[in-house]
Amino acid sequence: MTDSKSIPTTLIPGDGIGPEITESVVEILDAVNAPFAWERHIAGMAAVDAVNNPLPKDTIDSIRKTGLALKGPLTTPVGGGFKSINVTLRQEFGLYANLRPTRTIIPGGRYEDINLVIVRENLEGYYAAMENTIPADGDPKGIALSGGYVSRKECNRIVRFAFDYAVKNNRKKVTLVHKANIIKQMCGMFLEEGRKVAEEYKGRVAVDERIVDACSMQLVTNPWQFDVIVTTNLFGDILSDQAAGLVGGLGLAPGANISDKAAVFEAVHGSAPDIAGKGIANPLALLLAAVMMLRHVGRQDLADRIDSAISSVITSGEVRTGDMGGKASTKDLTAALKQKLV
Ligand code: NAD
Repeated sequence: MTDSKSIPTTLIPGDGIGPEITESVVEILDAVNAPFAWERHIAGMAAVDAVNNPLPKDTIDSIRKTGLALKGPLTTPVGGGFKSINVTLRQEFGLYANLRPTRTIIPGGRYEDINLVIVRENLEGYYAAMENTIPADGDPKGIALSGGYVSRKECNRIVRFAFDYAVKNNRKKVTLVHKANIIKQMCGMFLEEGRKVAEEYKGRVAVDERIVDACSMQLVTNPWQFDVIVTTNLFGDILSDQAAGLVGGLGLAPGANISDKAAVFEAVHGSAPDIAGKGIANPLALLLAAVMMLRHVGRQDLADRIDSAISSVITSGEVRTGDMGGKASTKDLTAALKQKLV
């Protein structure tokens, strides 16, 4: 295997703290000689300011070509008729699978040894935004309606993604999370397809099922029972933030949006305008996203090296940014991580 920068990869530094944490992550990736050949592009407010378009064609074309992107947080422009950048990316590249690993990194908290993954369907469900209002009680908009849909094909595909992920990553169990007792059609179809797919993996990956409200409670009372959770869009959105809360919040939460056309890796948090430019942002969520990207391209060796540097720095407790209860700057943390790379 060559160590040259052989994998063209789109890099979007993003807005707010985006450029600061991206610089840190690129420095650490360079330190392990990661194989990404960066194509730098703009999106978000940086792109609105430059070309009056939050997601310029050049940026989309680059992702179409590379099929791989590391994306810093983007500020969603308010007003001006701009469509959500994340939604546009998901639709453009059919990014149907949202992958959110949750792992204890900071020791000594309430939830030690958590290591679970939530797979969320990203395109359908209630986020299809089929909304409307109708008159009632003398008010022309007295009733608000919101509908959603799932397709059999997509239910099958997302559950299959979760089982394949389990096989590839040596995970033992997939939990199908639903509300089929009440939402009988939509969640019923998800569960029916989920059970069908689970049959095909019998003997290799175990399956169980949870109703979403019970799952939410159990994530708090006994999260260790979960390995891979797969669920529909809305439930996955809520449960994955809940899971992030167990292990130190969004500052430590990475995510990936995946299809057969592209894979976009990102920190789950936003552009943090309140601390932008101060040099105190925590780069770990974006770094963990980069670690996922290394695993995605088959460089487990480099991913493991960065993972152990993170564990070692955070466990020693000496160098932590403000959100982790410390006083270190982004640069201090970057330097400490580089020093621990073996
Ligand atoms: P946010 O995640 O940016 O910030 C919430 C709080 O967490 C702030 O106090 C912030 O300082 C802190 N924080 C976030 N990331 C941090 C980090 N790496 N290190 C230290 N502290 C950190 O959420 P918000 O304020 O609601 O959103 C700000 C902007 O980001 C909005 O325009 C929003 O639309 C956008 N956003 C983008 C994404 C994305 O691009 N994936 C995700 C969420 C929000």
